[in-house]
Amino acid sequence: MIKIEYISEMIDIRKKLIQKDNSVGFVPTMGALHEGHLSLIKESKQKNDITIVSIFLNPLQFGENEDLDKYPAPIKNDISLLKNLDTDFVFIPNRNEMYKEKPKTIIEIPTMFNILCGKKRPGHFNGVCLVVAKLLNIIQPNNMYMGIKDYQQLCIIKKMVEDLNFNCNVIGLPIIRDENGLALSSRNSYLNDIEKQKALQINKSRNIIGELLNKGIQEPNIIIEKIKDKLESVGLRIDYVEMRESITLEETNKIMDLSRIFIAVYSGNTRLIDNFTIEECKLFFEN
Ligand code: AMP
Repeated sequence: MIKIEYISEMIDIRKKLIQKDNSVGFVPTMGALHEGHLSLIKESKQKNDITIVSIFLNPLQFGENEDLDKYPAPIKNDISLLKNLDTDFVFIPNRNEMYKEKPKTIIEIPTMFNILCGKKRPGHFNGVCLVVAKLLNIIQPNNMYMGIKDYQQLCIIKKMVEDLNFNCNVIGLPIIRDENGLALSSRNSYLNDIEKQKALQINKSRNIIGELLNKGIQEPNIIIEKIKDKLESVGLRIDYVEMRESITLEETNKIMDLSRIFIAVYSGNTRLIDNFTIEECKLFFEN
């Protein structure tokens, strides 16, 4: 595996890969890698000649009171995980080089930013879009792999790539969970045992939804209130619970298989997000 630190070096390597007609798969990350990240890398390796992973803790997507300074950065462990997967290149750009001067460009998709996490974390998706646009321009991948875990982010990036004609396919891959159903996240390392136990209720919401649907309940509001009650009853603090349409992210009054439940809660001080379709809830309940 080759480690790349400088943007110019990354651009040179990319030029050489184009000359060799190699297809390039790209997985952008903020490090503290877990099986969720690794699933994206494995898919990229299967579908492309060359896989490039970036590790960049992007300050622009963290709010003032968020966890930028304490975000885990186990770089040695990350490198060894990437080597184990036989990753071709890891790009670890320097913050000062990425943002020599404070960027003045703003990328914004108002209708997609003003809801869910975008509403709760002002500026977050501006930061995400800016860094992904920069990375796409530097790396010019054929395919980029992202997690459905951050579903709103995935939709926004797909739209940005379409609107701005980035020459790259964006592929969303399933959420990887631990053995108890908790969606893997770098932030799970903040949780103590009690907070982790409480967090398991997030995934159990699928069962509640399946059960309510099985009883013939079809009103999104009733379902959302029941989920909220249960999340609160185990001691989680709700940021939002919403049901929206999977493609447009519009709120929906009608429950369809592809309607999606979005959950953001705090367990202790740690903010956790998850999402699942109605279809997944039905299957979860049946099994
Ligand atoms: P992050 O390092 O948190 O910026 O995440 C990098 C990529 O990994 C994003 O596309 C995330 O959606 C994806 N990802 C994070 N957690 C998971 C997970 N549990 N399952 C699948 N993908 C994930």
